[in-house]
Amino acid sequence: MEQSKIWLSSPHMGGNEQKFVNEAFDANWIAPLGPNVTGFEIDIENYLSNSKIDENLVNVAALSSGTAALHLALILLGVKAGDEVICQSMTFAASANPIMYLGATPVFVDSESDTLNLCPVQLEKAIEDRIAKGNKPKAIIAVHLYGMPYKVDEIQKVADKFEIPIIEDSAEALGSSYKGRKCGTFGEIGILSFNGNKIITTSGGGALIAKNKSIKQKAIFLATQARDDAPHYQHTEIGYNYRLSNISAGIGRGQMEVLDKHVNLRRKMNMFYQEVFSNIKGVTVFSEPSDDYFCNNWLSIISVDKEITGKSREDLRLFMEGLKIECRPLWKPMHLQPVFKNMPFYGDGLAEELFDTGLCLPSGSNLTNEDRERLSLGINEFFRA
Ligand SMILES: *Cc1c(COP(=O)(O)O)cnc(C)c1O
Repeated sequence: MEQSKIWLSSPHMGGNEQKFVNEAFDANWIAPLGPNVTGFEIDIENYLSNSKIDENLVNVAALSSGTAALHLALILLGVKAGDEVICQSMTFAASANPIMYLGATPVFVDSESDTLNLCPVQLEKAIEDRIAKGNKPKAIIAVHLYGMPYKVDEIQKVADKFEIPIIEDSAEALGSSYKGRKCGTFGEIGILSFNGNKIITTSGGGALIAKNKSIKQKAIFLATQARDDAPHYQHTEIGYNYRLSNISAGIGRGQMEVLDKHVNLRRKMNMFYQEVFSNIKGVTVFSEPSDDYFCNNWLSIISVDKEITGKSREDLRLFMEGLKIECRPLWKPMHLQPVFKNMPFYGDGLAEELFDTGLCLPSGSNLTNEDRERLSLGINEFFRA
């Protein structure tokens, strides 16, 4: 029998998504507003609020993508052409692209080895040097890569020292937390993504998380073409068409019902890999550096030491590809991307090394025992040979 492909991370419906979508059809709410949009926002607000953060500080605007949320976050923080914005280099291009939309310059900063996210030491160095050069950065985009929280306290301390706001790119980290507080609630503005391969999906979508209601309202205003309060169409600002569809939001409401269950299943995948690699020398399964961190394990990742194993992560990737198992290199750092090659970078080579040695493994919440059996057999076969 033809074996089916094992994907890195594929959509996993919970069951009630279609009920919410049908409600939208029944009420003819086929528009970028409606009860599902409002309901989805409330679901996320409730999910992110807990005893570690006042619910009034969690205000969610549902948008068409995480990229749109980042674009609006930069606008809300006043970033303009000619400004500089610090961005973690090791990330998906969507973290950095919106800086370019505004004619601003990204300043890329390296990772540290505990969380693979923004390095507080390099961050401070970068800010000091940019200030010395006469252009103080307007914002810092910090990412919780693969669901692993960045060093929240250390990064916040640097940001506070220089009074620069943080945009918290939590696109991969819904369901993760740091010291008991949910990711998405730490930055001056946070963002989420509900793209097809993320921890929950609305087929495509995102959200902006603001510290007060007026910022949320401003985000929605900008996301709906910046219409002034008038009976005719009147505009005093440039607007965007960035609101989430009421159909997509219906999928989101169904997905929120199973979020914690799916986070648990992804964490089980990570434990599965810890077990599989426990007796393979030279391979490290990336995991939480301490009890302060709770990772949703959106993707499980390893690094392969070629000196010890005699094999590269690319050898493993191609071998698994042959078994119809999708694996991917880690994000290629932004400072190594042709499109960003002229942008400033501060670092000492860690992101580059991670890119050379790291691999993302199939991590979906919908993987079966048979899938795990195939994964385990494949990995063992590769490292035995
Ligand atoms: C997916 C992702 C985004 C962008 O989200 P979209 O909804 O795909 O626009 C931004 N940052 C990171 C780190 C991501 O992984």
